[in-house]
Amino acid sequence: MKKLCFIAALCAALLLVGCKDEAVPRAYTGFYFDTYVTFTIYSADGSHSDREITDSCKNILGELEERLTSYGDNGVIAKINDSAASRPVSVDENTFSLLEKCIEISQKTDGAFDITLGEISRLWGFGSAQEVAEPELDKIESLAGKHNYKNITLNSENMTVQFTEDGFSLDLGAAAKGYALGLLKDEMLRLGVESAVIDFGGNIQTIGDSFPGAQSWGVSVTADDTNAPIGKLNVGETCISTSNASRRYVEYDGKRYHHIIDPNTGYPAQSDIKSVTVISADGTSSDAYSTAFFVMGSEKALALCEKLDGIDAVITLNDGSTLLSDGAEKIFTK
Ligand code: AMP
Ligand code: MG
Repeated sequence: MKKLCFIAALCAALLLVGCKDEAVPRAYTGFYFDTYVTFTIYSADGSHSDREITDSCKNILGELEERLTSYGDNGVIAKINDSAASRPVSVDENTFSLLEKCIEISQKTDGAFDITLGEISRLWGFGSAQEVAEPELDKIESLAGKHNYKNITLNSENMTVQFTEDGFSLDLGAAAKGYALGLLKDEMLRLGVESAVIDFGGNIQTIGDSFPGAQSWGVSVTADDTNAPIGKLNVGETCISTSNASRRYVEYDGKRYHHIIDPNTGYPAQSDIKSVTVISADGTSSDAYSTAFFVMGSEKALALCEKLDGIDAVITLNDGSTLLSDGAEKIFTK
């Protein structure tokens, strides 16, 4: 018996930091990539109505969902999954850049982040349209050697994607929502938004330097589905992504399997990390590194984080203690 659960509640709630002005937030929601998005607008220049702004953002998300979804008839990732094992597949410039960025992050994380886990995710029953009665463990184990980001060849002259092996497919689930944040931010700025927050399934984009009338945004960090904050990040315009095992999982015969896969085994990652929150100006990076750091475990994750420019992390271990990167120490308060 399978039970698929995902936590829809906001993972990071906004706190008002020393606010004098009476800013009245206007919140709007939608459902894309199998999760909720919330747009909270605090101020805009009035050149467009909230309705125009959120409709336009929702159009972007609808198109992106079609473009990046792993299966179906229309999207470019589905097309790649269909044909790239047998021939080069042409893709648009934006998708090509996103794939390049994903492969760069795979290289930097020594494969802990790997977008070729599509078949494995599908066999576990995460995010697939088809119900999975029971995970076929023998199939998962036999496919666990097939995927590898190194089996993707990107040709930047022809803008094509080709697989050098078969038996795997692309799944951008660990980066797509963060990637969307950048597009949504640009659109909101274009439409005159001055101050807003987007929360897309555990990925937050703040727009504007601070909560109106305050010194910064105060984003509370949670480490599980209770939504009890473990502390607060004081940030300007940035992205904040959280990965944890309780966000999404399947249950088979009473046993729980979470959705973050260790590419070495094809099984849910056994990590000393309960939850990891990554801060980066770039949403693709905050999203992808949060997934990778969970897989890597705290020691390797923190060591890598200190080497990467513009990436910081708040890590909650299974024993409840908190580890902070050097940059996070300056912006995190309990
Ligand atoms: P996130 O919620 O951002 O941590 O992403 C988890 C989702 O990304 C899962 O539901 C899978 O679809 C996919 N995924 C799981 N493990 C990995 C991994 N190690 N690398 C890349 N994508 C993954
Ligand atoms: Mg992620």
